[in-house]
Amino acid sequence: MTTMNADEVLERFKRCGALLTGHFRLTSGLHSSGYLQSALVLQHPREAEALGAALADRVRAFDATAVLSPALGGIVIGQEVGRALGIRALFAERQDGRLQLRRGFGLGPGERVLVVEDVVTTGGSTRETIEVARAAGAQVVAAGAIIDRSGGEQRLDVPFHALATVTLPAYEPAVCPLCLTGEPAIKPGSRN
Ligand SMILES: [Zn+2]
Repeated sequence: MTTMNADEVLERFKRCGALLTGHFRLTSGLHSSGYLQSALVLQHPREAEALGAALADRVRAFDATAVLSPALGGIVIGQEVGRALGIRALFAERQDGRLQLRRGFGLGPGERVLVVEDVVTTGGSTRETIEVARAAGAQVVAAGAIIDRSGGEQRLDVPFHALATVTLPAYEPAVCPLCLTGEPAIKPGSRN
C-alpha cells in the first residue's frame, strides 16, 4: 500500500517547480493566478511512478480492466496507474475538436474502464473521456486524478478520487481581476 497525503503531493509539485504563479488561461477557458504544470513533475520517472502507484491504490477496489486518459496531459499518469494495477493504459486524442480512440485502440462491452487525468479543473475533459469509453460500449467504473482543483465542482457521474485537492482561484474571463491589470493571460504549455 502506497500512502501519499495531499501535502506530500503538493510538496512534489513545488520541489519540481510545477506550481506556477502568474496569469493563466486554463484549458477550461477560465483564468487563474495559479497553474499546476504536472508535466514538470511527471518528467521525472520516479515521481510519475510514485504518484501513479498512490493513485492506483485509491482506485484498486474498482477492479478496472483498462485505464483511459485524455492526451496529452493524462498519458504519463495513465500509464503509471496502469502499470501499478497491471492493466493496459490507452489514451484518447482530439481530432477535429473531438476526443476519440485512434491508433487501433479499442474498448468494448465487458471492459471496466478507469479514466485517469493529471489535473481536473472543471471536469470537462474527464467527462468527455468517460463518454469516449461509453460510446465504445465499455463501463466506466471510476475516475481519478493527481490533483482536483475543481473546488468540488467536477460533476462526474462516477466515483472520483484525487490524491490532492487544491483551491486556486479561477475566474470567468469577463470578471477576471488579473485581466484588469492589463497583463495578458498566457496559455500554459505554450510558453511555460
Ligand atoms: Zn484574466
